[in-house]
Amino acid sequence: MLQIESLTFRYNRRAAPVLKGVDMELKDGEIGILLGKNGSGKTTLFKNILGICTPLGGFILFDGANLLKMSKRERAGKIAYVPQHIQFGALSVFDSVLMGRVSRFGVKAGKEDYAIVESVLADMQLENYAARNVEMLSGGERQKAAFARALAQEPKLLVFDEPTGNLDIANEQLIMDEAKKLARDRNISILSSLHDLNQAMCFGDRFFFMKDGIVKYAGTKEQFTEAIIHDVFDSDVRIIEHEGEKIILGGNKNAN
Ligand code: ADP
Repeated sequence: MLQIESLTFRYNRRAAPVLKGVDMELKDGEIGILLGKNGSGKTTLFKNILGICTPLGGFILFDGANLLKMSKRERAGKIAYVPQHIQFGALSVFDSVLMGRVSRFGVKAGKEDYAIVESVLADMQLENYAARNVEMLSGGERQKAAFARALAQEPKLLVFDEPTGNLDIANEQLIMDEAKKLARDRNISILSSLHDLNQAMCFGDRFFFMKDGIVKYAGTKEQFTEAIIHDVFDSDVRIIEHEGEKIILGGNKNAN
């Protein structure tokens, strides 16, 4: 379980805090979606969870252990990250995905590592790309490779920054389905930002709405209301029910 308590952060002493006391809790196997306007602090929160930024105050606990005190390697054994913009270096797709396992194998990859990479490449329909230079792939293919690398890492928590930004509908669905499978079958928690509220409702179990440096609202999709969306995004939407599912119409103009 991921527990964040009273987390505060600012980029430098002269700047105002971006995170002003974030509280949230994500259970094992749950998919949590972080929602909020551009600049509301979603990426900053991810960077604090990943150890790229050091908080001013507060706690981040994972399975009861203080994430802020873990070594990089220990953290990489637990958390994988799929960023919005991926820097791989000029490696083959196979080797890029294998790099996801460095925190596990240390110096030299073994048979099990190769087998896991092969199985992940098959799940992501990337077998035919294995020998290709990852730098030569399209944005969407690179994003799939980044996801494959995160899967190969066998994390307990997967952090996703706008995972579907570069993807066409079929690949978007593939990544969403694989991510859901991961959460359900292996009890892995996923924390993701998404800009499309309808996509978020299809994908997520729990939603965290960020505004003014805090998680202002948290809950399941049943608790989504037009008033919350108006408050968070400053955008008027209508929520309708269709065949038992909520659909959000209109708005979204300021979402990210
Ligand atoms: P989001 O991911 O929700 O769009 P960010 O976390 O990227 O929001 O940004 C939150 C705020 O922090 C914004 O006001 C942004 O300008 C500021 N910010 C982000 N990165 C930096 C940085 N490296 N240095 C200073 N300010 C930053």
